[in-house]
Amino acid sequence: MAFVTRFAPSPTGPVHLGHAYSAMLAADMARAAGGRFLLRIEDIDRARSRASWEAQIYDDLHWLGLDWPDPVMRQSKRLAVYGAALDALWARGLLYHCTCTRRDIETAMSAPQEGAMPFGPDGLIYPGTCRDLQRKDGVLRLNMATALDLVDDLNFTETGPRHAGRIEMDKADYLNGIGDIVLARRDMGTSYHLSVVLDDAELGTSHVVRGEDLFEATAIHVLLQRLFGLPTPEYHHHTLIRDAAGKRLAKRDDARALAKYRAEGRSPTDIRQMVGL
Ligand code: GLU
Repeated sequence: MAFVTRFAPSPTGPVHLGHAYSAMLAADMARAAGGRFLLRIEDIDRARSRASWEAQIYDDLHWLGLDWPDPVMRQSKRLAVYGAALDALWARGLLYHCTCTRRDIETAMSAPQEGAMPFGPDGLIYPGTCRDLQRKDGVLRLNMATALDLVDDLNFTETGPRHAGRIEMDKADYLNGIGDIVLARRDMGTSYHLSVVLDDAELGTSHVVRGEDLFEATAIHVLLQRLFGLPTPEYHHHTLIRDAAGKRLAKRDDARALAKYRAEGRSPTDIRQMVGL
């Protein structure tokens, strides 16, 4: 199988050390396998995406010595593809509209069960309020129980350090730990999960290399691949680059941008050393 991987940043902020690590690791793995390294711009969040951040991504990645074929896939150009996929799921009775606000969901959940709200990889696990109400607008949610009835297994291969091996996923975990996820957000007409699955299939991605914060989301992606009849890539969820206090760089307000290291006169080799490559 040809090795194809990608780096898929969102142009919503600076490229920091964690991004640099993810991109260089993916490119290294592609080179070692005689494969291809692709870049994809995940700009479906129109409110937060900026052309200047995108320009910085190209500049920083080139400075690191990375290269990729043009044209680069941009999610904002693929809304029609996402819409058609949603139409297909809708026609199969797998989606429903939901008008619940976050507060509605919290209220519905706190009634029967006091204490901690159950969270999954897509946020609060939806209690199903709108499932049978035939609403006409709002977000589009996946009817998880119906979807699970249509798939056989939900397994995938992981090569990352923390979970390496064949991951066997249980349908009960999807019902209890993920629930009816949002596949089309009000403001986007799609969602991270839907776009990533369709884009990776379109790019022929054989190996997904990304941070281990997305390991739980992979369960959702594997389910969507099965529903669409798309191949499941191999996954490599790498460890996250943390600061000295153990906090994830991406979550820090002062996450050190690559641009700052460049301005200080550091070299790409310094960066490789800093992230342990
Ligand atoms: N765009 C996502 C991010 O910036 C990564 C998506 C992926 O690799 O699947 O974290």
